Amino acid sequence: MTRTAILSALIDEQRGLIGQLTDATEVAHAGRRLWCGRLHGQDVVLALSRIGKVAAATTTTALIERFAVDRIVFTGVAGGLAPEVRVGDLVLAHDFIQHDLDSSPIVPRYEVPLYGQTRFLADATLSAALHRAATDAWTQLPDWLGTEVVARYGLGQARVHQGLLASGDRFVSVAGEGQRLQADLLAHGHRALAVEMEGAAVAQVCFDYGVPFAALRTISDRADATAHADFNQFVREVASHCAEAVLTRWLKTL
Ligand code: SAH
Repeated sequence: MTRTAILSALIDEQRGLIGQLTDATEVAHAGRRLWCGRLHGQDVVLALSRIGKVAAATTTTALIERFAVDRIVFTGVAGGLAPEVRVGDLVLAHDFIQHDLDSSPIVPRYEVPLYGQTRFLADATLSAALHRAATDAWTQLPDWLGTEVVARYGLGQARVHQGLLASGDRFVSVAGEGQRLQADLLAHGHRALAVEMEGAAVAQVCFDYGVPFAALRTISDRADATAHADFNQFVREVASHCAEAVLTRWLKTL
């Protein structure tokens, strides 16, 4: 049977799914917590990557080598970069770039040395199925998030986007930093929708092993000076329910 890994950086991003797991076994491995079990009839491993590219790469390697997963879905939060990407929107990755990787002039800025490529693609089939589940969940936001939370965060107009995710080892939360990062990427032909700290690392490991990977991120902040204030409360009140809402719908279609 196909084994699916569901990966998040923070426990709050995954709490709802852990609660639904049946035949669950909690495993400690390499300083991480993982839960193996069944979710809506599927064989799953829920795992916390911890924060940042190195931590995410280690977790991904362990999931593939030690837990023999066949596909990986990352679910968590991100900061919005493109102007149309607002707090409460969902961004499904089309591909990934490391915004803090620069080996120029040996190779062009952002290119991953020895790979001859800059962007790593998300798996198209997995992403299409997640897109359907996400769109379905987002049209029913008040049903599972409650009308009060939807109104307080102004999520009535929340949308699902698909595009480039930029990853790097920085929580982007200084005034002007998100815009600068976005402008630098644009100057090299890369239009990123959102910024986070793990996706591109997971994508590169999955590329190495030939394991299908997809990622969806709820926008918790706008990667600016208010990011820190918005972040914790949003994760608690909104993001903690998003993985459950979308992935439950997706798993039921398998
Ligand atoms: N304050 C948190 C740390 C959060 S780090 C704590 O104390 O634990 C931010 C996490 O959310 C990372 O996993 C990253 O992938 C994502 N993220 C959300 N907004 C981000 C932003 N503006 N910049 C970078 N990563 C962001």
